Amino acid sequence: MAKHTVVLIPGDGIGPEVTRATTRVLAAAGASIEWVEMLAGASALEQGMENVLPQRTLAAVTAHKVALKGPVTTPVGKGFKSVNVQLRQKLNLYAAVRPVRNLPGIKTRYEGIDLVIVRENTEGLYSGIENEVVPGVVTSMKVASRPACMRISRYAFRYATKRHRKQITVFHKANIMKMSDGLFLECSRQIHEEEYPNIDYTEVIIDAGCMKLVQNPEKFDVLLMENLYGDLMSDLCAGLVGGLGVVPGSNIGDEAAIFEAVHGSAPDIAGKGIANPLALIMSGVMMLNHIHETQIADNIKHAYDAVLAEGKQLTRDLGGSETTEGFADAVIAKLDR
Ligand code: NAD
Repeated sequence: MAKHTVVLIPGDGIGPEVTRATTRVLAAAGASIEWVEMLAGASALEQGMENVLPQRTLAAVTAHKVALKGPVTTPVGKGFKSVNVQLRQKLNLYAAVRPVRNLPGIKTRYEGIDLVIVRENTEGLYSGIENEVVPGVVTSMKVASRPACMRISRYAFRYATKRHRKQITVFHKANIMKMSDGLFLECSRQIHEEEYPNIDYTEVIIDAGCMKLVQNPEKFDVLLMENLYGDLMSDLCAGLVGGLGVVPGSNIGDEAAIFEAVHGSAPDIAGKGIANPLALIMSGVMMLNHIHETQIADNIKHAYDAVLAEGKQLTRDLGGSETTEGFADAVIAKLDR
């Protein structure tokens, strides 16, 4: 019998390709996992489900508490509400944690980047409350509540403390959104002062913060921000270290956690077998650490670091010509067994 049960959501576009490659790597490394495959996204509708987020998928994540998820497609400007936003809100996965670091052998404009984005994942402008006031005039409501702001701030400081990180920078726009971003700042200041005074705490207005980030990204450590800013900043930071193919992520709540890459379903390359599975493999490593399989996690991390350092079997986004499966094979070949 497998030691762990984990929900697997292959998702849309490149999702099934990168999840297949990832589960192969985890199995080859000896992770004893029974995968419970569940549908979500456009693929759920294609396979006859009543909904893009079937009730049984939600129930499975609630029951098993851990999931590995491929990206899902969200229609632009019309259609169903984002499955990702629904999953995060319905399961209360309030903290998106996205580590961004330079990788061996991957040349970028920068060196020494090792930062973590902690994004509030349940409210802000992603509350989905939009309204047509009169024809031609719409509003979109940005929600900030004290409990959610306190909860994400406390999570970020606790994370920083546990990981021996030294500094938290809050990105905000409280000069304009005085009440909503103002509340976010008020809560993070309070957590800093009352609970974690030893962590260095700074605030930066997000526009200037973007400039500082692309000038000196190595100076940043833990970046704390509300939902929309965290979404945008994640892709920006991915661009600093080699692109969306190399940045993993997790959505953490008190009752469940879903691990997924920062990237989307990449319709432009879907079905071609050329997507980089590394971001999801890295998300799988985060998941293994979460379920306390740290040795297996370390083994996989060393294996993909070795493949990257060698630089012979990279996918196209990193300047190589390797396929999704070929990259997974290369990682498997480097595992310590
Ligand atoms: P995207 O991340 O899918 O793609 C952006 C660019 O990066 C594309 O050129 C793509 O080919 C490339 N790319 C992304 N992942 C890659 C990988 N693993 N290997 C190689 N190249 C990769 O962003 P998009 O095109 O803006 O969005 C496409 C769809 O994905 C949309 O429907 C969007 O809503 C959805 N999306 C889902 C998630 C998620 O499920 N977590 C996240 C972001 C976007």
